[in-house]
Amino acid sequence: MTDHKTVAVLGSTGSIGTQTLEIVRERPEQFDVVALAAGRSVDQVIDQAREFRPELVVTADAAARVALADALPDVRVELGAEALADAAASADVIINGVVGFAGLPATLSALNHGRRLGLANKESLIAAGPVVQRARATPGAELLPVDSEHCAIHQCLRSNDVFQDDGRPDRVGRVVLTASGGPFRGRTRSELSGVTIADALAHPTWAMGPKITVDSSTLMNKGLEVIEAHELFGVDYDRIDVVVHPQSIVHSMVEFSDGATIAQLSHPDMRLCIGYALAYPDRLDLAYGAMRWDEVSRLEFEAPDHQAFPCLGLAYEAGRIGGTAPAWLNAANEVAVQAFLDGLIDWISIPDVLETVLGRHDGTDATSLDVVIETDRRARQEAERVIGQRIEAA
Ligand code: MG
Repeated sequence: MTDHKTVAVLGSTGSIGTQTLEIVRERPEQFDVVALAAGRSVDQVIDQAREFRPELVVTADAAARVALADALPDVRVELGAEALADAAASADVIINGVVGFAGLPATLSALNHGRRLGLANKESLIAAGPVVQRARATPGAELLPVDSEHCAIHQCLRSNDVFQDDGRPDRVGRVVLTASGGPFRGRTRSELSGVTIADALAHPTWAMGPKITVDSSTLMNKGLEVIEAHELFGVDYDRIDVVVHPQSIVHSMVEFSDGATIAQLSHPDMRLCIGYALAYPDRLDLAYGAMRWDEVSRLEFEAPDHQAFPCLGLAYEAGRIGGTAPAWLNAANEVAVQAFLDGLIDWISIPDVLETVLGRHDGTDATSLDVVIETDRRARQEAERVIGQRIEAA
């Protein structure tokens, strides 16, 4: 069974976008790119548009729009957030790999138009979970996570055909998210006091951008994924566990009420998750990350060290508070990580800053996108204030 689907690739020049296009390139009879959206990498978008012949190209930059329109006379070239939302409504499947808040309206547009969304934009669920949930209720709307852990959980849940009337999976005992543990796995809090930016950027298994790599080193990335798992699958925080698994082969697991655990295993390769979102409910006839069992001698699991990595607990705390607290923590974390990358604060100060800032969250509910965006702005201000005070005191 191979039906034909149109695809919109938002964030087409980023890591998720280029890997999506790799899959389309391999399966042109199955997928047809109808829209591309990218920020400022003009030459790369021109190459992509010439190869994949979309009807619509969206850019975030006015100068880029002029250059694109010049180079692509047969293509509709549009500028800005509204055009991005149009692109997100233009296809059977939308892969949203836009980074940051700019990706949120695209998420809402795809779901509000009853489309399938392959979601790699973290802000959508972490900062705006309650807003996204409402859009997700649109008939036809499907949300498929493009994140290795959540894609794994989705696959594990599918293996269980026990569903409640509202479509939620029943008989789920626990969801177990795996974490590589990052470059500082096994170190105690006191051993972590002098770590450098280069240390934090040396991730053992995944090659990613600096922000998410630092988040992996603090386990904040895993904490944010706990919030995402709660939003995606409706599982209570008490039933979401994190286990450190340094080989990154088991991408996550679900334990059912009878004690059985189902896990998804593969070598780390995001194209598996992207292909899963593109082909669902079918599976792609193209293997990425397939296991070579003769190359794997052991799979290890250990509990995370909450004392050395307090960010994980802070994310649980924000998730349990709910409302705008995850948005608040996420924004503060972006500021704290940037301050670390700029050499303004130590790595071990990141959770201290976040704990202080989270303590100042005012309990606002996430009633609309505007409220979420305002929360993000205020949390950044608060984080900058706390960091400034620490620098002065030092
Ligand atoms: Mg992940």
